[in-house]
Amino acid sequence: MAQEDVFKKLVSHCKEYGFVFPSSEIYDGLGAVYDYGQMGVELKNNIKQYWWQSMVLLHENIVGIDSAIFMHPTIWKASGHVDAFNDPLIDNRDSKKRYRADVLIEDQIAKYDEKIEKEVAKARKRFGEAFDEAQFRTTNARVLEQQQKRDALHQRYSDAMNAGPDLSELRQIILDEEIVCPISGTRNWTEVRQFNLMFSTEMGSTADGSMKIYLRPETAQGIFVNYLNVQKTGRMKVPFGIAQIGKAFRNEIVARQFIFRMREFEQMEMQFFVKPGTELEWFKQWKETRLKWHKALGFGDDHYRYHDHEKLAHYANAATDIEFLMPFGFKEVEGIHSRTNFDLSQHEKFSGKNIKYFDPETNESYTPYVIETSIGVDRMFLSVMSASYQEEKLENGETRVVLKLPAALAPVKLAVMPLVKKDGLPEKAREIIDSLKFHFHCQYDEKDSIGKRYRRQDAIGTPYCVTVDHQTLEDNCVTLRNRDTMEQERVPISSLDSIIADRVSITSLLKKLQ
Ligand code: ATP
Repeated sequence: MAQEDVFKKLVSHCKEYGFVFPSSEIYDGLGAVYDYGQMGVELKNNIKQYWWQSMVLLHENIVGIDSAIFMHPTIWKASGHVDAFNDPLIDNRDSKKRYRADVLIEDQIAKYDEKIEKEVAKARKRFGEAFDEAQFRTTNARVLEQQQKRDALHQRYSDAMNAGPDLSELRQIILDEEIVCPISGTRNWTEVRQFNLMFSTEMGSTADGSMKIYLRPETAQGIFVNYLNVQKTGRMKVPFGIAQIGKAFRNEIVARQFIFRMREFEQMEMQFFVKPGTELEWFKQWKETRLKWHKALGFGDDHYRYHDHEKLAHYANAATDIEFLMPFGFKEVEGIHSRTNFDLSQHEKFSGKNIKYFDPETNESYTPYVIETSIGVDRMFLSVMSASYQEEKLENGETRVVLKLPAALAPVKLAVMPLVKKDGLPEKAREIIDSLKFHFHCQYDEKDSIGKRYRRQDAIGTPYCVTVDHQTLEDNCVTLRNRDTMEQERVPISSLDSIIADRVSITSLLKKLQ
């Protein structure tokens, strides 16, 4: 199946089974805003719990906070967001659609890449076993021509972005490359303008007494402005970290790809405060720690790669993304940045307060350097769903849709099903749930055939199902069915907790990180 189709199916699966709904759907939705349904909220909470516990339980020197979304507007002046948190936008006069100029150009670069890959695929088919791909890529005239055009465009684009960006040059590139609007098909483009991504609102009731404030575009600043409160009240010593999970808002110009790019989303950020000069060592360590966290989910190492940034933001001295193989290619899920002392120094400057750390061991004061790990909950959710969604051909010729979610993240851990709706079987099933519901999330299901009920649970990723039959009333044993292998075994009810609890707990994942 083409990856595009897989993605479409995933989006409709998310809706059909109560994972993700478009926001305000009965009013035709609201662009790039989504609601999580009854299954989605459980999966999302499990992802957050996995992250939170990996930070604050496994590290004695990391604590959490929950800062407000509204903050003093000067914070965003100090952080640089008021002046520089911009995307270059361009409008098509015919379709009235708005695009990110940089994205239009990046898509054009990707088109050259696609053409090259098509040539290679064609040749591979034609030459079969004898195909020497490396030689073909370096000698085939068509490939070389496309490669040359691609590289020239890439260079021109990088130069334009590095020069400010140079907005008129970005527009010129779009014209020279003859990029058309996908809706109108025309090249009737406006000038390129900078567009600030922060949402703003007014605080206060009177027109003159009100203050323009912003909805935070990242959770990090709430950590920076509280770092000394936490350090002092928690008696923290550098190096230490502060973790936070919370909503962030960005008025993205082009919001695409479902929950990959949203206007309201959630971040899990941890800022780690270190002694100046030690930051690159810590950066390296956090890069490894975070990749290990991702890989512990078991989707396969080939699903991840680092993307080290060549061009660094002015405040960073190292940066990398952890990319995940989504149905639409490798995409950033998490950013790890060595942010130097930029943010703390800016807040010191703009607030006029001394927010230096006093080191009791060396008796000196300094502004700590910061390593940031920043991951989007929703992007993580999308990566987990896309790697788990599978359509399997069964031996009997049928196809089953199964979400092979890591058991610790699955919304429901166990479904309990009476074989029939009578003869005391429902009561027995309820009894099992009543004894297990304190340990993990169970669901009762008595409707339809057992086969249909298994399919329903497969579709929401429930790792275990138990069936209660007439024999159960005599021997207190049930049939336990495994989602992935579909194998069934007869087990005593009394052993269900010990078989299942461990495997479906977040602890099972955390132990892999040690
Ligand atoms: P991108 O380049 O994709 O816009 P970014 O580099 O601006 O992302 P950061 O500011 O580093 O992203 O934010 C950290 C993380 O927050 C990202 O890795 C991503 O997982 C998440 N994130 C950022 N913007 C969005 C968004 N609009 N919707 C959903 N998640 C987002």
